[in-house]
Amino acid sequence: MKGSFSLLSSKKLLECVECTRRFSLRDIADGFYWPIAGVCMNCYLFLAKNSRYCFAKQFDPDHVDCSKFCPDRGVCGVLSARIERGILEI
Ligand SMILES: [Zn+2]
Repeated sequence: MKGSFSLLSSKKLLECVECTRRFSLRDIADGFYWPIAGVCMNCYLFLAKNSRYCFAKQFDPDHVDCSKFCPDRGVCGVLSARIERGILEI
């Protein structure tokens, strides 16, 4: 069964809703695709670089928009923390 999982994990079964590129289970494990939102890391980095969007710039866990309503709150919080700590550069 271990072999069939690794075969499945390398198949590009998941599509990014923004750019329509396809990703595998392995890509999820490597952080290239966020299955909760169905969006890939390339598209999230585009949002992070674009000043028109608050994404990865003003994450506030105490604000109701950030903590409850934003569909990208999970990845936004992770990327905001990485940028703040200097782990990720935009
Ligand atoms: Zn994408």
